[in-house]
Amino acid sequence: MHLSRYPRVKLCHAPTPLEKMANLSRQLGGPTLWIKRDDCTGIATGGNKVRKLEFLMGEALARGATHIVTQGAVQSNHVRQTAAVAARLNLKCTAVLEHRIATNDPDYLEGGNVLLDHLMGIAIEHRPGGTDMQAAIEEVGARLAEAGEVPYLIPGGGSNAVGALGYAAVALELLNQANEMGLRIDRIVHATGSAGTQAGLVAGLVALHAQIPVLGIGVRNPKDKQEANVFKLAQATAELLGGPAIPREAVEANCDYVGEGYGIPTNGMAEAVIMLARSEGIFLDPVYSGKGMAGLIDLVRKGNFAPEENIVFLHTGGQVGLFGYSDFLNRAAA
Ligand SMILES: *Cc1c(COP(=O)(O)O)cnc(C)c1O
Repeated sequence: MHLSRYPRVKLCHAPTPLEKMANLSRQLGGPTLWIKRDDCTGIATGGNKVRKLEFLMGEALARGATHIVTQGAVQSNHVRQTAAVAARLNLKCTAVLEHRIATNDPDYLEGGNVLLDHLMGIAIEHRPGGTDMQAAIEEVGARLAEAGEVPYLIPGGGSNAVGALGYAAVALELLNQANEMGLRIDRIVHATGSAGTQAGLVAGLVALHAQIPVLGIGVRNPKDKQEANVFKLAQATAELLGGPAIPREAVEANCDYVGEGYGIPTNGMAEAVIMLARSEGIFLDPVYSGKGMAGLIDLVRKGNFAPEENIVFLHTGGQVGLFGYSDFLNRAAA
């Protein structure tokens, strides 16, 4: 996989560590659980979006962009990471935030990621839940272009084929680590939302003939829709890579752990966040990796994996979001 053919700005502290979770594995009594620390990508408290932004910003700079426009939910990790990268690259940034969750909780509306967005001084616009957010950023982009700016639009989660190259790169990074350590990886599990992470990983792993299945734990959509989104984007990413076609069965999502909806806390999420904090001193996030780990824990308890398996949980970051959910988590931790 020849990734230097694509414009890229190196931003991540990489390779991120690949660590064994000995205590959690012992507590659950199933397979050996490992964790790939993409919460430690190094920009503005880290996370998976910086991986995608390496290639997206490569394209933005190549096009002479002056102003980055993107969108997300109010507590968007993607917006926070995009804002930080824009600051570093001397680009202006506007974020359109969708009020996807009905809440008046000041922690959710002003704390966590929103606090960091404010500290970075980006322009923020608000839209009600259910808004067509892609149309919203196109509108903002058109307005900026009229004012003489060169806008570069990044879709929600940075999830298009260019962004997904970032996770094809992680497939290569992870395989190199595993080969060096002599670790046979039997499965990768992670939280899947806007689909770019899973699509890039799958496209990369297929191109590298890794034979490692990936299980995405959904945080928003039902299974059919999530798998269709990931498959479509994995195919587009494979095409951009010039790699082999993606078999449909390489895309698997389990969407049984969403709960009431995107960003709405679940008891399983709280249990997972607390369990990881107390067993490994690792913080997950309430919207994505907490639900992803809740899924992994439940599947281990149900005996879905053989004891000799090595399972790598990809930690996609988002811990700052914990501060947007203080009440719920404090009650759960009491
Ligand atoms: C965005 C995000 C995800 C989901 O990644 P996608 O590429 O959108 O599927 C998972 N975890 C965290 C913490 C995120 O911010």
